[in-house]
Amino acid sequence: MGTWWILRTNNDPFGAIRNFLSVLWIQAKLDGMLLPVYQDGGTGIEPNLVRDAADLNRADPLCPFMPENISRLAIYSSGEILEERIGFILHSCEARALIEKRRLGYLLPEKWISIGIDCLSSFSIEDLEWRLEKAGTLESITRQSLRFARQGGIAPYRFRTACQMCVTPFCEDVDINIGLIGLPVKEFILIRTRDITTSENFNLPRISDGPAPISLRRQHQHMLDFIYERRERCRERNYHLLEDDFPRKPSEFTALLSACSPCQKCLEVCPVYEGQLTTQDDGGGNKSRQKINQWLESCVTCGMCEQACPRNLPLAAIHGRIRQELRHDTMPIGM
Ligand code: SF4
Ligand code: SF4
Repeated sequence: MGTWWILRTNNDPFGAIRNFLSVLWIQAKLDGMLLPVYQDGGTGIEPNLVRDAADLNRADPLCPFMPENISRLAIYSSGEILEERIGFILHSCEARALIEKRRLGYLLPEKWISIGIDCLSSFSIEDLEWRLEKAGTLESITRQSLRFARQGGIAPYRFRTACQMCVTPFCEDVDINIGLIGLPVKEFILIRTRDITTSENFNLPRISDGPAPISLRRQHQHMLDFIYERRERCRERNYHLLEDDFPRKPSEFTALLSACSPCQKCLEVCPVYEGQLTTQDDGGGNKSRQKINQWLESCVTCGMCEQACPRNLPLAAIHGRIRQELRHDTMPIGM
C-alpha cells in the first residue's frame, strides 16, 4: 500500500521539486537520472541521462513539451545502463508504456527506480513555439503551467489532443510519485511511495516534511476524478468528430500506413510498437492480425505518433476509436 508524505515548497514548487530529486538521488544511491534537460540556453529540451546531481539545475521534469516517450529510450537504450542504478522521471503515459512492456514480457532491471510526476499536459510544437517567443525560456512556460496545477491545468483545448484525452495524469505502478494536481503547490506538494519499505529505503521521514494529511490527499484525488470525467467526455467528442473515412478497423489502419510508405515515423517513435506490421501471416492472415490488434490494444495514448506525423493525421484519436471498436467487438453479447 502506498504511503503519502508532504513537501513544503516555500513559494517555489519548481525549485522544491528539483531539490527533492537531488536529495532523492543521494538517498537512492543513483548512478544517474533520465529526464528532460534544457538545450540551447533553455529554449530547447530533450531527455538526457544525467550522471551528476549538480546537472539537475538544467533539468525540467515538468516541461509542458514532450519531445519523446522516455520509456522508449529506457527500453531501447544501450546495455550499459542495465547494470546501473538509474532513476527515470516519467509522465503518466511514459509510466503506462513501462507497465505495458512488462506485461508483454520485458524484464526491467530491479535496480531502476521509476519516479512519476503528475502530468500537467503538454503543448504541440507549434503552440510551444509562439509561447516561447512570448516567454523567452521553457522554464518560464513550465512555471506558468505550474500555477494552474491546483485547478488541474490550463484550459484543456490548448494541449496536444493525446493530453486532452488522457484520463490518468497520475502515474500508476511507480516507486515514487510527485503529486501536484489539485494542490496549493506554492505551499505543498505530495510525495507517494510504493510502500512502507520504499519510504524507509529512501528515508522519506527525513527528506520530507512528514506524513501527508488526509485533506490534501482528498484534494488531489478529487481533482484527478474531475479530470477523469472531463477527459472521458473529450475522448468521446474527439472520436465522434473524426471524419468517417479515417480507419475504424485495424485492417483499414494498416492500409492507411501502407499508403504512407516509406514513412514510418509514427512507428519509430512508438514506445510499444514491436514490429507487428512486419509479422508474417500464418497463411490465413491470423498471426499478423492478432499482432496488430495487440499493438493497438497496448497503445498508451502518448500521442508521440501524432506529433511525429508529417501528414498531421489525428493518430491519437484514430487509435483510440479503433481500440474502442475492438473492445465492442469482443464484448460478450448482453453486456
Ligand atoms: S500508437 Fe501512438 S499514442 Fe499509442 S503508444 Fe504508440 S506512439 Fe503512443
Ligand atoms: S507518421 Fe503519418 S505519414 Fe508517416 S507512416 Fe505514420 S501515419 Fe503515415
